[in-house]
Amino acid sequence: MACTAIVGINWGDEGKGRMVDLLTEAFDIVVRFQGGANAGHTLINQYGKFDLHLLPSGVCRPGVVNILGNGVALDPETLIREIEAQRGISITPDNLMISERASLLLPWHHQLDVLEEARTSKHADGSTKQGIAPFYSDKNQKKTILAGELFYPERLKKHLKELCAWKNLTLEKVYGAEPVSEKELNTWLNEYCERIKPFIRDTRSYLIKAESDHKRILFEAQLGALRDLDFGIYPYTTSVSTLASYAPIGAGVPGVEIDRVIGVTKSYSTCVGNGPFVCEYTGKDADAWLEMCHESNEGGRPVRIGPIDLVATKYGVEVQAATELAMTKLDVLSSLDEIPLCVGYKLNGEIITEMPFPAALEKCEPVYETMKGWKCNICGIRNWWELPEEAKAFVNRVEQTVGQVIRWISVGPERHSIIRRG
Ligand code: GDP
Ligand code: MG
Repeated sequence: MACTAIVGINWGDEGKGRMVDLLTEAFDIVVRFQGGANAGHTLINQYGKFDLHLLPSGVCRPGVVNILGNGVALDPETLIREIEAQRGISITPDNLMISERASLLLPWHHQLDVLEEARTSKHADGSTKQGIAPFYSDKNQKKTILAGELFYPERLKKHLKELCAWKNLTLEKVYGAEPVSEKELNTWLNEYCERIKPFIRDTRSYLIKAESDHKRILFEAQLGALRDLDFGIYPYTTSVSTLASYAPIGAGVPGVEIDRVIGVTKSYSTCVGNGPFVCEYTGKDADAWLEMCHESNEGGRPVRIGPIDLVATKYGVEVQAATELAMTKLDVLSSLDEIPLCVGYKLNGEIITEMPFPAALEKCEPVYETMKGWKCNICGIRNWWELPEEAKAFVNRVEQTVGQVIRWISVGPERHSIIRRG
């Protein structure tokens, strides 16, 4: 398991964070390789409950080094607030490192996200308003600042001034908004950027050496396969790759080989944000399932829900090139007489089981089947053979349909509420 990636198979919130927290017991380093503070990874362990946004999910493991790679959207303000908010664990330059090549999410990125979302209102794509889309657009236009530039104050000042003048044109002339002032920028630099400096270093060299010293490295993703910029439900995607194959680049070790890709999927489907979501329940069905699955608004945005979607899950397994799977939240289905599964999509009168092109997805209708439920509490089970036959049959059916082994099954949100198979 020297180099392993943990990635999302569906639309996000599959339980990646809890799997990273659990499996980090066998790793030396955890690297977040993409995304920003729009993540919400929940961990529950002996130190308490943690709702992490930008910090990698290995922070609760003493001795593990956590790295924010060059592929992340590094928001200094959110990071400092998140570090300060931690209770029960301490975050220091010994257990957190930031790549000097990570680009900084700048003060105007949040503002631009909010302005663009307001402009498109009805047709908005459901942004988290964390500045992610403006950030990655600017990164690709080479109009951001690298974290390492904080150590070159003269150059930084000039670069930031140029970028600010350029961005103020958009703020004022496109959106009719207030420009960002030099004073605001200085406050941002002094209050937040100065405080992330102790964590910044050349993490690429660190990782190359770690790899040659046979250290075990875990790559942590944010969001899921269906939010991938290239292979997701475009344009309702995020603005960067969420795939395991991007991990070596986003983490800072482009040539490294990933031995294992652990795809995380749930026993049902959720989707936060807009876009086609074929298996979706509506009305009373949705309300009942939201309650049953303990789903509440995510970052102020409503959670959409439906049964497990085998078409989307098989696709997610393919694009992630998952070598094995973890299925989370099996416990929440325990009260059902029958477990529904979305086994296909009806498109133009035909039933398909392969993921279609995003535009066709909007025309698809779900084809559901059901399996017998197990109707008993499984939260305390830690052994595959002790699971009720109906629960095993459900897991086996998913495994066979998506074509990959389910090696972990979680039956509660706590770190050790897990069944390991073989
Ligand atoms: P991530 O974004 O993929 O890391 O997932 P989130 O942490 O956003 O969402 C998963 C949610 O499900 C969190 O609230 C977890 O505490 C919870 N959770 C994870 N695994 C289980 C499980 O096996 N059973 C139950 N009941 N809750 C779980
Ligand atoms: Mg989440």
